[in-house]
Amino acid sequence: MTELTHIDEQGKARMVDVSAKETGRRGVFLDLQGTLGGDGLGDIQDFTFYACAIPALRLFNQFGLSIIVVTNQSHIEKGLLTYQQYEERVKELQGELGTAGAGIDAIYCCPHRTPDICTCQKPKLGMLHQAQQEFGMALSECFVVGDMGSSDMLMAHTAGCKSILVLTGVGESSLNEFRHTWAAVEPDFIATDVLQAAEWIGEQVSGASNT
Ligand SMILES: [Zn+2]
Repeated sequence: MTELTHIDEQGKARMVDVSAKETGRRGVFLDLQGTLGGDGLGDIQDFTFYACAIPALRLFNQFGLSIIVVTNQSHIEKGLLTYQQYEERVKELQGELGTAGAGIDAIYCCPHRTPDICTCQKPKLGMLHQAQQEFGMALSECFVVGDMGSSDMLMAHTAGCKSILVLTGVGESSLNEFRHTWAAVEPDFIATDVLQAAEWIGEQVSGASNT
């Protein structure tokens, strides 16, 4: 059964198979900037992957985990980047990962600048719900890795995912100066970078059946 659940930025209606909801797929939701590369706050046009991102993604692939990147891109609605430029950049980045043999399943973005007009800006759960519908992700069996407590860690907590804060990007300041913005939440693990996060996740899923 399909139904209209989403209209994208260019007004294209998307049909989503709602009967595929929650098929128990396990995976990892990864923040992009500050987690896989870049400086955490800059423009995606200037983004480059950290050296540790490629082996981390390969590990997730080996563990049989789906990989969904979830990113807030308010630069789009602020007019600093068109949706088309964003899509072109994402294609380039996916090409780089493909060449490196580190596949990801999807990249979702929230293009909005003001959280009250949308349901997708992290820490809201819109992008996770989209993954639930499109990939059958079982959120309670999933991991969130990100550098910003007030978006990534709060989102993980609300969704019932395991949360891993990385100290790259704004991770360090998120844990110190800005700890009050996500004081109610304790990350399940704090990792120096996404590769250490992947190793920890590997320990959590090893022994569990991936078949
Ligand atoms: Zn949004």
